[in-house]
Amino acid sequence: MYKISYKTELHVGKGALQQLSHYKNEHILVVADPFLKTSGTLDAILANFDDSNDIVVFTDIVPDPPIETVVAGIKSAGDKPISIVLSIGGGSAIDASKAMYYFAKKQGAFSEAILIAIPTTSGTGSEVTSFSVITDAERGTKYPLVTKEILPILDADLVLSLPGNITADTGMDVLTHAIEAYVSTKATDFSDALAEKAIKLVFEYLPKAYKNGQDVEAREKMHAASTLAGMAFNTAYLGINHSLAHAAGAKFHVPHGRLNSILMPHVIQYNAGIEFNNRNRQATDKTVASRYQDIAKLLGCSASSPVSGVRQLVEAIKKLQRKLEMPTSLREYGVKADAFAQYKVEISEAALHDGCTPTNPRVPTAEELLKVLEKAF
Ligand code: NAD
Repeated sequence: MYKISYKTELHVGKGALQQLSHYKNEHILVVADPFLKTSGTLDAILANFDDSNDIVVFTDIVPDPPIETVVAGIKSAGDKPISIVLSIGGGSAIDASKAMYYFAKKQGAFSEAILIAIPTTSGTGSEVTSFSVITDAERGTKYPLVTKEILPILDADLVLSLPGNITADTGMDVLTHAIEAYVSTKATDFSDALAEKAIKLVFEYLPKAYKNGQDVEAREKMHAASTLAGMAFNTAYLGINHSLAHAAGAKFHVPHGRLNSILMPHVIQYNAGIEFNNRNRQATDKTVASRYQDIAKLLGCSASSPVSGVRQLVEAIKKLQRKLEMPTSLREYGVKADAFAQYKVEISEAALHDGCTPTNPRVPTAEELLKVLEKAF
């Protein structure tokens, strides 16, 4: 038996921002990415609000937000009776606002507040997930917190300004969410349907969005793919790709999606139990390998056996990475060998205890996680 709840009310497409005009006499805490302030996008979005609203704007958002950002955001509201927390930005701004909402409510503030999220990257799906990833800089760990009941507004015009590298990174994050949800131990027919669609959209439209950032159709499709993948992993959860990315990201500060992308081929091969440098290519876990085979078939590969399915999927991902001109190893990204050597064991240990590990299709040991990480280096 399982229970799935999709409470989220999505507002999608051109004109969706007008939804904001319905709010009157509210006390609103806006948590926005600083880029949106300088680009003028923030003012354009806030212009949709009625003048009767009292608006406080907090834009001190940094990538992979630490708890200090969360505390500062709550403080910025002073003692106003906040009734709406509105987040506008990528996963960092949305996660920070979700944590502000979560902790302020715990302290008895923002008690009647609702949470609205307007993503400006097509990547994390945070606008539909119950998770908020906050970094503990001291311990070098990212903690997933759980918040619920968000009202997302999706307008792909907001991602037209994303530069190519962020388009690629965040798009590969979408793919990682969808693939991890698909092979998760908690996958269901419902999450599969969402993940399959997201995977197809990424392979078709991410290269187009990367090549031409003004391709509105590609942007719309990627914005939808991001949310679909978020809905998939919100019920199916993720796996060690994200566990390693959370732990390594806290140490090396590689953009989250790029880190997921670098790890993905190695994680897939590990999960299927396939060593491609081994001549005797046997999948030790045929069930997991056959799930990857299904994805390869979805992408039009022949995938005549689980092993060839895994191989073709990995090849398809590598081809996509080449189209997106992405680094394929941590070393290529710029992580130094001595820093890697210093932190690799700590990262593997942290990844073993990450909240995403229990739903990975293969139960890893810290030593195995270390091996995957070393391959990614
Ligand atoms: P991000 O929010 O850190 O933003 C990346 C960069 O893009 C920033 O420099 C930002 O200023 C810029 N940016 C944002 N929107 C822009 C736009 N429209 N035009 C130009 N530049 C823009 O990146 P992200 O990948 O969206 O989020 C990553 C964070 O999300 C990580 O902390 C990760 O752990 C977290 N995450 C959370 C979940 C979840 O379910 N809550 C899932 C995956 C990732």
